[in-house]
Amino acid sequence: MRIVLLGAPGSGKGTQAAVVAQRLGIDHIASGDLFREAANRGDELGQEVKAYMEKGLLVPDEVVIKMILERLSASDSARGFILDGFPRTLEQAEALDRSLEQSEGKIEKAVYIKVSTEELVKRLGGRLICRNCQTPYHEISSPPKVAGRCDLCGDELYRRPDDAPQTVRKRLEVYFAETAPLIAYYREAGKLVEINGERGIEEVGEELIAALTKEGGGDF
Ligand code: AMP
Repeated sequence: MRIVLLGAPGSGKGTQAAVVAQRLGIDHIASGDLFREAANRGDELGQEVKAYMEKGLLVPDEVVIKMILERLSASDSARGFILDGFPRTLEQAEALDRSLEQSEGKIEKAVYIKVSTEELVKRLGGRLICRNCQTPYHEISSPPKVAGRCDLCGDELYRRPDDAPQTVRKRLEVYFAETAPLIAYYREAGKLVEINGERGIEEVGEELIAALTKEGGGDF
């Protein structure tokens, strides 16, 4: 089971990828989380990617592709994986397909979580993330039970520096220019599943699981 999750920043990709991974027993691989970990460690990769992330720009393809393909080969889930935040360019999608072909595998489904630009801006504006487990919250639509603390692990919540209004605008611009074309790429390959992301977290999650599993008409 190899799934790609597509959607703009703020579409709920991270939240839904965690739900799908847990329900289907597959590995959740989030490129943004891997980069944030590297940036916090301050190692060579971290220093290189930090500047791009702070500006809302994409990390260069060769760096991302190498990192994700290495992570994929280390994936310990025999049942498969869900990719969250990768691929983000056509070049990344093609590199992923080539690499999977070599191991006689392929991406089976690309799920696109559709959310209007107006709603994305609203969501990113109030987003809070757990420093430890990366669980996302929203100041207004899904606040934590205790202000500033994660419901799951109790660690501190913070606002991602790249959720500042100016950087959000840049990230959305980059998304529409570089990543949105992947919707057509996976549609032409007959792999695209579209989900309306403008509903509650649970409803979106249920529709996603249904679309992927046999009971809901999916393949798994
Ligand atoms: P995310 O948490 O998915 O919003 O990613 C945060 C930041 O990490 C992005 O704004 C990019 O700077 C970088 N990043 C994550 N995934 C990719 C990717 N597939 N290609 C290029 N840059 C990425």
